[in-house]
Amino acid sequence: MASIVLFGPPGAGKGTQAAIIMAETGLPQVSTGDMLRAALSQGSSLGMEAKSFMEAGKLVPDSIIIGLIENRLKENDASNGVLLDGFPRTIAQAEALMEIEEVEVVLSIEVPDERIIKRICGRYSCPQCGAVYHDSFNPTTSEDICDNCSHHGMKRRADDNEETVSSRLKAYHSQTRPLADWYSQRGLFQAVDGDRDIELVGQSLLKVLSELRGE
Ligand code: ADP
Ligand code: ADP
Ligand code: ZN
Repeated sequence: MASIVLFGPPGAGKGTQAAIIMAETGLPQVSTGDMLRAALSQGSSLGMEAKSFMEAGKLVPDSIIIGLIENRLKENDASNGVLLDGFPRTIAQAEALMEIEEVEVVLSIEVPDERIIKRICGRYSCPQCGAVYHDSFNPTTSEDICDNCSHHGMKRRADDNEETVSSRLKAYHSQTRPLADWYSQRGLFQAVDGDRDIELVGQSLLKVLSELRGE
């Protein structure tokens, strides 16, 4: 079966919407950012290689990322397709993906640059279940306790600061955004307005999916 790609700038809401789409489709979420952070915290050589790029807000080299995805898609739970979050981010990655997996649709969450800094600088998440929160836009009900799994102690990402955000946006516009045309030419690109409430964005994404599937 085919996979779904969640596309958009850093902080667009890919991880947030992944939870909604996962609940609907049952596809497992595959986030290259999460995989790289896990590798980093385990101190693996892959994590060490990726570290300086991530800290600088630059893309990790294609060879590393493509290897990571190739292995992940071989796992049993990926046999019916996955929900890709943060991959592909370059044309080379999209070409590599085409060789190993069918893409059902690329769902793009469109958010203007001027919104991104606030979203990223207020982001925190649950280290246990991965639920994503925001200081003002989507806070936990009780401070530091996850609404989803009751875990105590939320975490913030080292790269979620203003300096890194501008490099990440630059990388997005120069290296990742060209994929919008690349996938449009293949009839796979569907954009929704991501500059609205989380629930509304989720509804739009699910509508695109159900229309596509003729439901
Ligand atoms: P991405 O995975 O694309 O980097 P996230 O899902 O982590 O984005 O969202 C970035 C931040 O913005 C998080 O703090 C999240 O709670 C918040 N956020 C996500 N979607 C919205 C939205 N539609 N409106 C306001 N804030 C949002
Ligand atoms: P964001 O919230 O910016 O979408 P991610 O968690 O997806 O963040 O990615 C964090 C960092 O990990 C990126 O800034 C980049 O350094 C690296 N990274 C993640 N996915 C990729 C990818 N597909 N290609 C290259 N680098 C990646
Ligand atoms: Zn949790």
